[in-house]
Amino acid sequence: MKKHNFSAGPCILPKEVFKKASEAILDFDNSGLSLLEISHRSPAFVDVMEEARSLALELLDLKDKGYKALFLQGGASTQFLMTAYNLLENKAAYLNTGTWSDKAIKEAKLFGEVIEVASSKEKNFNYIPKSYTIPKDTDYFHCTSNNTIFGTQMKSFPNTDKPLVCDMSSDIFSRKLNFSNFDLIYAGAQKNMGPAGVTLVIIKEEILGKVTRKIPSMLDYAVHISKDSMFNTPPVYAVYVSLLTLKWIKENGGIAGMEENNNRKATLLYAEVDRNPLFKGFAEKEDRSPMNATFNLTNSGHKEAFDKLWKDAGVNGLNGHRSVGGYRASMYNALPIESVQVVVNCMKELEHKI
Ligand SMILES: *Cc1c(COP(=O)(O)O)cnc(C)c1O
Repeated sequence: MKKHNFSAGPCILPKEVFKKASEAILDFDNSGLSLLEISHRSPAFVDVMEEARSLALELLDLKDKGYKALFLQGGASTQFLMTAYNLLENKAAYLNTGTWSDKAIKEAKLFGEVIEVASSKEKNFNYIPKSYTIPKDTDYFHCTSNNTIFGTQMKSFPNTDKPLVCDMSSDIFSRKLNFSNFDLIYAGAQKNMGPAGVTLVIIKEEILGKVTRKIPSMLDYAVHISKDSMFNTPPVYAVYVSLLTLKWIKENGGIAGMEENNNRKATLLYAEVDRNPLFKGFAEKEDRSPMNATFNLTNSGHKEAFDKLWKDAGVNGLNGHRSVGGYRASMYNALPIESVQVVVNCMKELEHKI
């Protein structure tokens, strides 16, 4: 039976990527060797790393603008501390829009004072705070562009002369933004870009070197930049699969192509959430994420019937995160609109049955 994968992460990747990725395990580029058994210093792998770094910048329109791309380990969670380690001298400003922002704040507090400029915690993070000021004496401003768990997305970003640091784990390469407004972008690969195990960091070099503390090599962006993202053995397979996904994005219209598709999928699903009296959305409408749509049944007594419908239809991963409950449809770049239609059909079917 055909599966429709709405998993929040790790998550769906393009079928073509899975196919090429599996071939590289047996015979990488007709070399007679597996990608898993060659040196990360071999010309073949160095080419993979360089192409992935370059293509990431190209897709974001950041080539020749003073940015470097790194593929690091430790997940986005390590970036919570690494950003502060490298950038926080005295004070930093953070916008709290959910679990992941909260965790970033907790780590940053180990390195200096953290000013929480605004938070939507009092409403279980179902919206994005919009009126706040970033204090003049802060070293940088940190935000989370898409809140994977709560299904909210920042539609605009503050105009600030402070370095703008953003966790884009769950919406990188999904929509057009002026990426040159950002100074540091990080994203765990497993939500829109590749398998778990690698994290993309895009960094404007001029923001580095401003803190006085000593930084351990593995946590120092400057060290990774100076070694072309090969300070130690990189997660070769995760980098390769990420490269395949970046190429797929490029071949399918780039970020603009992804955005168009993502908007069509989100419109289809949210229209049904709003139309169908058995469902209600969780996030405020103006802040809804096209990546992760969160919604609930209006009557929880229908849960068993609805769960059976979508499970029987081959849908996977539709359960909401435990801190929100209900349902979450993660509609990342690689998810075809046909899969969204299947969920919408299940919602309509529930209405007819009741
Ligand atoms: C999943 C997620 C994280 C955590 O990523 P790890 O790679 O598991 O550390 C951080 N931020 C956001 C927005 C996420 O969606």
